[in-house]
Amino acid sequence: AQPIFALASLNPTTAPSAEVRWSQLLALALAPEGEPVLVVGRSPECGLQLADPRASQRHFEIVARRRVPAPRAGQEGCKHPGPEGLAYDCVLVDRSSNGTSVNGTIVGRGCTRQLHSGDEIDVLPASRVGDDEMIGFLFRNTTEGLADAAPEEVRGLDLDELVVCPICMQVIYKCVALAPCSHNFCMACMSDWMVQKKDCPVCRRQFVAVMKNFPMDAVIEAYLAASPAQQRSPEDMREMDARDRLNLGCSGKLVRDIAAVAGPPAPFARG
Ligand SMILES: [Zn+2]
Ligand SMILES: [Zn+2]
Repeated sequence: AQPIFALASLNPTTAPSAEVRWSQLLALALAPEGEPVLVVGRSPECGLQLADPRASQRHFEIVARRRVPAPRAGQEGCKHPGPEGLAYDCVLVDRSSNGTSVNGTIVGRGCTRQLHSGDEIDVLPASRVGDDEMIGFLFRNTTEGLADAAPEEVRGLDLDELVVCPICMQVIYKCVALAPCSHNFCMACMSDWMVQKKDCPVCRRQFVAVMKNFPMDAVIEAYLAASPAQQRSPEDMREMDARDRLNLGCSGKLVRDIAAVAGPPAPFARG
C-alpha cells in the first residue's frame, strides 16, 4: 500500500526519501495536536536527515491536522470518524535560516504553508545550487484521495494488503491494533487468539495492549464502499460480535492493557 504521507527525494544523492506508513495511523491519531509527523534537517533527531551544511539543523517540519467532519446522524458522542474524517491536511512549517520553498516560493522562517499532493518542497533549489547539489522533495498526501472516496481512486490506493485480517484472511471487521507492534486484526479474531497466546500472530512479538483502531475502521469503511463485494454478511458480523470478549469501542474502553493482567487469561476463558 502507498504510505499516508511521503516526501520523495528529487535528488537521492543529496537527500533520502521519507514516508509515514499506514501502521503509524493510530499513533498519528493519538499524537498531540501540532506535533510534526516529519522533521527534515541536519540534526540527528530529524526523521529525514540532510548532510549539506547549508541546510539548517531543523530545516522544515510537516504537521498533519485531521480535517474535522460534521457529525453523522446517530453517531453523536461517538468518536468513530468515518472515511470523510480520515482526511489530514498537511502544513509545512519553515524552521530554516535560509528559507524553504514550496513550488518556487520561499515560505520564510516561522511561517507556514498548506501542502497538497504534487507540491515541490526545496531546501536548496536547483536554480540556486545547480542540479547536482539541489535538495528537493515531491510531497504526497494519500488521505486527500481517500476523503473524496471516489471508488476508482480508493481502489487505486492499493489497500488490499492493509485491510485484510491475518487471522481470518478477510477484510477486517472492527479493527484493533496491538501495541507495540501496530499490527491490525478483527476484534473478534484477536479475542479468540488471546485465549491461547500472548504474542502477535504476524511478527511474534509479545504484546502489552490491544487498542481499538478507529482510524483504520475508517480506512476499511472507505475500502468496502469501493469494493462492496468484500463486505461480510450480517450473520457473519453477528457471529463475530457474539464471540468477541474484548468489546472495545464507542460505549466502552478503548484499550485492553495486557501487562496488567497477571497469570492465565481468565477474563477471556469461555464459560
Ligand atoms: Zn479476522
Ligand atoms: Zn505484530
